[in-house]
Parts: sequence; structure tokens; C-alpha cells
Amino acid sequence: MIKKIDHLGIAVNDMKQAAEDFARAFGIVLGGEEEVPSQKVKVGFLQVGEVRLELLQPLEADSPVGKFLSSRGEGFHHIAFEVDDIESDLRKAESAGLTLVDKTPRSGAHGTKVAFIHPKSTHGLLVELVQK
Ligand code: ZN
Repeated sequence: MIKKIDHLGIAVNDMKQAAEDFARAFGIVLGGEEEVPSQKVKVGFLQVGEVRLELLQPLEADSPVGKFLSSRGEGFHHIAFEVDDIESDLRKAESAGLTLVDKTPRSGAHGTKVAFIHPKSTHGLLVELVQK
């Protein structure tokens, strides 16, 4: 089902400031930004070896990441697993009793298909499945 960890999502208030801080502290550089209208979020990726950090800045306060920031503040938001067949893996997750946020995949960054699994069924971890 899972090929590898694709990225770790980090919620931030200000992507430009966060990218500057990560560059200064760790020497890792932002590799471009993209808006994901379906999630009302701007994303930017920092490559760290084979894994990426996905910085998430909400475009509106009334968005999933905006609500996360207002209730929990900045920090770890989700883990993304790369899969080959997202529709099949969503059905397997549902059959295994997991609660799906997305019953069908939607458009993610870089033309990917993504779907989220609710943290209440994964020990508090928000899981994103990504098919490239
Ligand atoms: Zn993500």
C-alpha cells in the first residue's frame, strides 16, 4: 500500500518568514511555492534528503489550515504517504475501519491526487495519501 513517506506537513503563519528561518537554521531552501485552491492554502516544499517538508500557509482564516493554526498554533500538521493506487488504498483504509476525510481523491500540489484520513482513527496523526 505505502511506498514511502512523501512529505511532512508543517502549518505556518508566514511561509516567507518560515522559509527564511529554515534556511538560516538548517541550510534547507524553499523549492518553489504553489497555491492549492481546493484547500485554500499556499504550499512550499523544502527538500531534506529523500523527504520533503511541506510548509502550509492558509490563504483564508476560514480554511482547514487556518482553523488548525488558530486552535493549535504553528507546527506539525500531517504526514503524507506515497501510494500507487489511491482509490484502491482509500477503499482498503475504509474497510480497515479508518475514518476518511476524503471519500474520493482531490487535486493536490504538483498535479497529484490526494486524500486525507481523519486523525481520530490513526492515533492522532492526520494522514495524507498521495498518488503522483
Ligand atoms: Zn501534504
